Amino acid sequence: MKHIKEDARTIPVMAETEVLVVGSGPGGLTAAVAAAREGVDTLLLERYGCFGGVLSQVGVEGVAWYRHEKTVESNGIGNEFEVRAKELGGSSKEPQSDSEALDAEMFKVVADKMVLEAGVRPLLHAMAVDVIMDGNIIKGIVIESKSGRQAILAKRVIDATGDADIAARAGAPYSKASKEELMMVTVMFACRGINRDVFQEYVSQTLKPSYADWAGESWGQRTSGKEENMFSPYIEDPFKRAVKEGLICLDEGIAIGGTWSTLSPEGDATQLNMVHLLKRDCTDVWDLTRSEIQGRDTVLKAIAALNKYVPGFEKARLRNFGMTLGTRESRKIVGRYSLTGHDVMNQARFDDTIGIFPEFIDGRGIIILPTTGRYFQVPFGCMVPQKIENLLVVGRAVSGDQTAHCAFRNMMCCTVTGQGAGTAAAVSLKNGVYVSNVNIADVQKLLIKRGVKIL
Ligand SMILES: Cc1cc2nc3c(=O)[nH]c(=O)nc-3n(C[C@H](O)[C@H](O)[C@H](O)COP(=O)(O)OP(=O)(O)OC[C@H]3O[C@@H](n4cnc5c(N)ncnc54)[C@H](O)[C@@H]3O)c2cc1C
Repeated sequence: MKHIKEDARTIPVMAETEVLVVGSGPGGLTAAVAAAREGVDTLLLERYGCFGGVLSQVGVEGVAWYRHEKTVESNGIGNEFEVRAKELGGSSKEPQSDSEALDAEMFKVVADKMVLEAGVRPLLHAMAVDVIMDGNIIKGIVIESKSGRQAILAKRVIDATGDADIAARAGAPYSKASKEELMMVTVMFACRGINRDVFQEYVSQTLKPSYADWAGESWGQRTSGKEENMFSPYIEDPFKRAVKEGLICLDEGIAIGGTWSTLSPEGDATQLNMVHLLKRDCTDVWDLTRSEIQGRDTVLKAIAALNKYVPGFEKARLRNFGMTLGTRESRKIVGRYSLTGHDVMNQARFDDTIGIFPEFIDGRGIIILPTTGRYFQVPFGCMVPQKIENLLVVGRAVSGDQTAHCAFRNMMCCTVTGQGAGTAAAVSLKNGVYVSNVNIADVQKLLIKRGVKIL
């Protein structure tokens, strides 16, 4: 690859803050709200025009689709998402669990309200592109936006980009699976014009889907046994039939099959999580481009199959694509502690716990639901990168192995790390120490005071 040398330049400082949160998905949104609620000056930076990350930008509605009668919850800010959305009429009953499916569009408003009410300073349409370092301290971030290249100075930084962009640029060690091993990416879509009653009758009388169906040719998932016969809104056979009968033809590395979520009385079907592209690296802009274009083309093929083979979808038409491609996995920091598959499947306990997450594992051939009340504690150490003193990483990029990732990548677990990190950043400022040295007992006390279940 050719290279050119960029000239050094002087850029304006557009803001200074105590806590800078980069990225506003479930992890970042929660981190910013948590820090601001503790009274520290907090700025939340987001590259797109709305807060919410995958939830509002891709259209993933099921923030707690794991929840069943005996599930033990983390009781943090993440649980407020459902309450606030419901109050605004921005949610409906999620089809496979005791939870709310959040309306992705309305969640943009929910997030705005939570940010403003907490006193977070919002900054949209700004992409973090570099770090300003002073030894092992991040002094600030360089952003690019329509206003140009500018700097934001900060005392504490929380990397909530999902891809550990900030940690990577700051030189903190990270890992990333090979392209062959990375979890698939997805072009999410929604349809209009479905006949809900006819579809539901087909589901209950003919399709009768359960989690056992996830073990089909495409995913080969295994369960812990108890999930096998539970209802899952999963559909794959009509797509296989469409390929077999020559209605559609799929390119290498593309799969159709997956779940639906809300079916509105007006005939909308949202969060159609069915078109997947394999072996893509979402930190490679060429892979992102290819996936968006191939994914959209494949969605039209999926709709053709739905029209022909699925009762209730005969007249379905495309309503919208997700605002952007949905990505599940890329960089993960090598943290002070790395969560393991053993931890998340064996109710791990940690002295530096900052929250809990139910035993919910989804991905890499495993689907386990927290139907029995089991849960693991989430350690502060998995958010602490090596080498950098004033940075925490939250959400799906925390430190852990591939099986642990299938637990902590879930949105509610991202809110657990987010709230833990936002609170730790506030405590570290008040105590005049970097986050790497924060007194964890003080953080835990504050989290308990806020109603978070940490033990
Ligand atoms: C198709 C799909 C379906 C899924 N289904 C479910 C599900 O049903 N339930 C569930 O719990 N989880 C689900 N997940 C997983 C879950 O959505 C993600 O793991 C979770 O959203 C990660 O949260 P996060 O806060 O770490 O990052 P994200 O939600 O990815 O948010 C990162 C934010 O940072 C912003 N950003 C990134 N880089 C920069 C930068 N350099 N500068 C400024 N801003 C930046 C992004 O625009 C984004 O807003 C799904 C994921 C996908 C892709």
